[in-house]
Amino acid sequence: PRPLVALVGRPNVGKSTLFNRLAGRRLAIVEDVPGVTRDRNYADAEWDGREFSVVDTGGFEPDAGGGEPLNALVQRQAQLAVEEAAAVVLVVDGREGLTSVDQAVADLLRRSGKPLFVAVNKVDAARHEGDLPIAEFHRLGLGEVFPVSAEHARGVSELAEAVLQRL
Ligand code: GDP
Ligand code: MG
Repeated sequence: PRPLVALVGRPNVGKSTLFNRLAGRRLAIVEDVPGVTRDRNYADAEWDGREFSVVDTGGFEPDAGGGEPLNALVQRQAQLAVEEAAAVVLVVDGREGLTSVDQAVADLLRRSGKPLFVAVNKVDAARHEGDLPIAEFHRLGLGEVFPVSAEHARGVSELAEAVLQRL
């Protein structure tokens, strides 16, 4: 079977946009409303002639948890991801900077022993790499940090190539 790469992280950081970028198709629902993705979305993808699958772990809505805190919902998705995936990409928002939810998910991922990557999304232009607080994401201790713009296809191939090397 194809190795599975999971995208995890808070709502609205750009997981579905990155998923669509990696899958090369418009499959996931991208929305300004956090948490709109209804199900875990899987797609077969091919990059540089290598085949893999990717899962977008949106899969929850703020209300669907019956009042369950956001942090717990994100953690549950991340736990599922580490159980089923060969590699996990934590997607974070470079414009918002490091949050406590990011930290909590990172703590969970770090224990997994799986290859881990941090995609700092919404770094839309080279000049943002100096302006945005990208360096603080190194503190998550998850390994290599990739500034990307899923929307503008910036840095996505560097991320994809690094992930593929570890599958
Ligand atoms: P998800 O909830 O993590 O799946 O996030 P989405 O992919 O639905 O994106 C949430 C919002 O962020 C949408 O308004 C996207 O258009 C926006 N977004 C996603 N990627 C980027 C990016 O690279 N740059 C910018 N500026 N916005 C982005
Ligand atoms: Mg989504």
